[in-house]
Amino acid sequence: MKPRILIIYTGGTIGMIEDPATKALTPFDFSHLMENVPKVKMLDYHIDNIQFEPPIDSSDMSPAHWAEMTRIIAKNYEDYDGFVVLHGTDTMAYTASALSFMLENLSKPVIITGSQLPIGEVRTDGEENLITALQIAADRDAAGISTVREVAILFENYLWRGNRSTKRSADNFNAFKSNNYPALAKIGLGIHFDREALAKIDSPQPLRPRYRLDTSVMAIDLFPGLSEKILRHQLETPGLKGIVLRTYGAGNASTAPWFVEAIRRTVKRGVVVLNVTQCVNGGVHANRYVGGGILGSLGVISGHDITFEAAITKMMFLFGMGIGSAEVARRIAEPIVGEMTLVSPK
Ligand code: ASP
Repeated sequence: MKPRILIIYTGGTIGMIEDPATKALTPFDFSHLMENVPKVKMLDYHIDNIQFEPPIDSSDMSPAHWAEMTRIIAKNYEDYDGFVVLHGTDTMAYTASALSFMLENLSKPVIITGSQLPIGEVRTDGEENLITALQIAADRDAAGISTVREVAILFENYLWRGNRSTKRSADNFNAFKSNNYPALAKIGLGIHFDREALAKIDSPQPLRPRYRLDTSVMAIDLFPGLSEKILRHQLETPGLKGIVLRTYGAGNASTAPWFVEAIRRTVKRGVVVLNVTQCVNGGVHANRYVGGGILGSLGVISGHDITFEAAITKMMFLFGMGIGSAEVARRIAEPIVGEMTLVSPK
């Protein structure tokens, strides 16, 4: 049986063309994209496609679009062996993280890719990325079990776990990286999977799509000079349910009494505060320094080595389940789909 793959084209540079008047890249339709990749026909696959109307630059991505992708995958889940999502690079890591939570019990490949140069350009990286993504989505063993059974980002030489990925370059073809998790596959002459790193699913359960996200969340970046007045304003935002607090190094923060008091009051009000490091590599060891230890003692939760993209989408996802903040606080501290590794509090 030929592998059956569904391509979901959301937009992004891969399918853009230059507007002759403004010279700005603008999304174009899927047929244009496919006309530029005739080699796809050389793959002996059954391929169908669904296009976002209109295709978008991924800076316009929203939870409603993630719900739409979830709906498309859930509706077509039994009819396809794998899914390839074509997406702009700017928010690809957010989409990959969100889908990893929303597609509960996923046991088929959802491979997200795009490109740095439009598919119509001579030196495009889009052709290779699309073909490799299709090959990965189609890869399976003799029993028909897919090799990749999770949401992943394929870009140039690597396949990364979706909720561990971050866009790291605006112009390098290797635009993504997981700073705290190994590559799921390395792409060179062949596609070399790291079977230890790939998600293992012993007894697959029926897919359980989750559509609701609650956006009553925000991110706060610490920096020397952060003013009390401005921070207080942010913390007192009406309706606020959760904050991803981007701290220094190993989860460290100021020990200034006004700052500690402001965080204490926020947590006491029932706002869930998650401590995530600003460092690209490593994670929160809250008790290593006094400031981080104080945050922990106030009830700020360690985000361990989670990415910002996974942290903020996980928070929206958990509040979207309609559970109370104590339950969100409990669940956000534990990994759901391999998005973080628990590190010791030392
Ligand atoms: N602005 C584009 C997008 O995210 C960038 C890209 O696709 O590389 O849609």
